Amino acid sequence: TSGELQDYDIEENLVERTLRPQYLNQYIGQNKIKEQLDIFIKAAKMREESLDHVLLFGPPGLGKTTMAFVIANELGVNIKQTSGPAIEKAGDLVAILNELEAGDVLFIDEIHRLPMSVEEVLYSAMEDFYIDIMIGGSDASRSVHLELPPFTLIGATTRAGMLSNPLRARFGINAHMAYYDLEDLTEIIERTADIFEADITGDGAYEMARRSRGTPRIANRLLKRVRDYAQIKGTGLIDDDITRQALTMLDVDASGLDYVDQKILKTMIEMYNGGPVGLGTLAVNISEERETLEDMYEPYLIQSGFLVRTRQGRCATAKAYEHFGYSYDKGE
Ligand code: ADP
Repeated sequence: TSGELQDYDIEENLVERTLRPQYLNQYIGQNKIKEQLDIFIKAAKMREESLDHVLLFGPPGLGKTTMAFVIANELGVNIKQTSGPAIEKAGDLVAILNELEAGDVLFIDEIHRLPMSVEEVLYSAMEDFYIDIMIGGSDASRSVHLELPPFTLIGATTRAGMLSNPLRARFGINAHMAYYDLEDLTEIIERTADIFEADITGDGAYEMARRSRGTPRIANRLLKRVRDYAQIKGTGLIDDDITRQALTMLDVDASGLDYVDQKILKTMIEMYNGGPVGLGTLAVNISEERETLEDMYEPYLIQSGFLVRTRQGRCATAKAYEHFGYSYDKGE
């Protein structure tokens, strides 16, 4: 997704692609979603129909894009990838739809950022596989009816709440991706290490999993950095000790909170007495985009019990105070 692209370079993008599981049985975790998709995919294939449209939501890095490609592979069809902000006009969408073959998957990342005029074209395309488009200028404009082959739209969004109701209603399959547990993350790290031919102990993988914020993309990124560290500062073997050393150097603390997470919580505690503080104010204070805070940082801080969202604003919890060694004497 565009916001995150700043975070990793093209080389890392290439590596990501080689790390992507190709089929459902290689995709670690998200068992409930996999079980459901497996049934829906098999049924669609048996009936020789296109799969119903799928909406994937969850924070960045949890495997939404990966899942879209897995679905296309399982269906044995082509996939075209684009994103909400990349489709500026209805005409852009028409051009993409026009290239689809029967059964193909169209993957739209950040679908909540589609312009309204584009979204409206999508409704009939999704529902009845046709589009009516206006062509020509004001006086000479006329409507053209275009039939489309049946296709599967897979939309990914970090924010379920930002999707309009008519769009949401047109997805037959909804999958809410959850943060990964330690067991799954450990397995993902071991799988990636295997692909990299890096030597890692079970304890090393587990230690890294604990600090990966429940997110495969982060787990893979940490592994790469720890591997470098182990190579230069150690024997190359990645065990729990070298993992701790490397991650301390990277400012990833024992709960997996990175520099920005720490800055968010410390700002709340030190400058706003733990809150409530508005998200916009917080964003300004730590020089991040409000959207980045909301999509990338807040969900994990909430999930791990460091931050709560109240009607008045965001508040740091007792756990956050404790984590940074402050005494928590609020409300007493
Ligand atoms: P999103 O689209 O949700 O931002 P991605 O699909 O790009 O996330 O996943 C980020 C990276 O994490 C991928 O390159 C992939 O290597 C890895 N990954 C994600 N989910 C899994 C999984 N379930 N098993 C193994 N690796 C995964």
